Amino acid sequence: MGQHHKVIIIGSGPAGLTAAIYTARANLAPFVIEGEPSSTSDQPGGQLMLTTEVENFPGFPEGIMGPELMGRFKEQAARFGATFLTAKATKVEFGERPLRVHVYGDVHTADSVIVSTGAQSLMLGLEAEERLIGHGLSTCATCDGFFFRGKEIAVVGGGDSAIEEATFLTKFASKVTLIHRRDSLRASKIMQDRALSNPKIEMRWNSAVTDLIGTEQLEGIMLTDTVTGTTSRMDVSGLFIAIGHRPNTDVFKGVLDMEDSGYLVTRPDSTYTNIPGVFACGDVKDHVYRQAITAAGSGCMAAIDAERWLEAQH
Ligand code: NAP
Repeated sequence: MGQHHKVIIIGSGPAGLTAAIYTARANLAPFVIEGEPSSTSDQPGGQLMLTTEVENFPGFPEGIMGPELMGRFKEQAARFGATFLTAKATKVEFGERPLRVHVYGDVHTADSVIVSTGAQSLMLGLEAEERLIGHGLSTCATCDGFFFRGKEIAVVGGGDSAIEEATFLTKFASKVTLIHRRDSLRASKIMQDRALSNPKIEMRWNSAVTDLIGTEQLEGIMLTDTVTGTTSRMDVSGLFIAIGHRPNTDVFKGVLDMEDSGYLVTRPDSTYTNIPGVFACGDVKDHVYRQAITAAGSGCMAAIDAERWLEAQH
């Protein structure tokens, strides 16, 4: 049996760790179930652990490496008394008080819970992805586009996200090839028109990325024609995967209100979920902005909501 806590925070990306800093400074001694290092979905530190340089986080004019930034968040939370468990929540029971969070065989109880389990970008499932993520391979144009000034790059996907990323990337890249596995886009008409009329975007239809070339840095990709099966090489210094995201909410199914897409639903302008005392923040409830700074901001909101809610209970 685990201990009882005033606040359990599940997830340790920018949202969870900001919630930890704020609740720790409110003397609530948060207990952070931070995730599992071996996983690409539940890794401690969240998605920034998969990036290299972060140049858009305010306060770091020279930029900072993603893992270092998250290390600093954690250090700051620990300084004020947050404690950490390197594991993932395997089951939650929010039907009765105290709230219960299972971590494999152990049960931790709490007066309030902050859910900040984040989201993950869907990946192609290629072996080389893990090696090259942050080294030419990216899942975030807003974060990494700047590094590809004057370079030839490619984007995979045929939905609104892929078009949005490709269009944004034309600000930096000399050429963006949009690679789609079919011969028509899923994206909305207006987005399609935007991409097809952009002189810097070239379409590559009926093509699947089947391998990534490069040991320490991406140098090119292998494409397989989905109709004829023929393969070809394309030299690019950047590849952006934009085939959708998935929130990490499996463990909350049937417990917390969520959209059909799995994103948690919170009351407007707050982090309140449908369960009193359970709050949600960061990418697990945000499919629009998905930035470290917006996640951190919503982590702060969750901490303040939890603190005020706890105070109102006594
Ligand atoms: P999406 O609409 O699900 O599109 C995913 C795209 O990736 C599809 O074209 C799909 O191909 C392709 N894909 C999926 N798995 C793949 C794989 N393994 N290999 C290669 N291609 C693969 O996802 P999204 O674009 O992220 O959009 C999600 C939602 O957010 C949508 O409702 C979208 O409208 C919305 N959104 C809106 C905006 C905007 O309005 N500004 C911007 C971004 C997103 P197929 O087409 O062949 O299935």
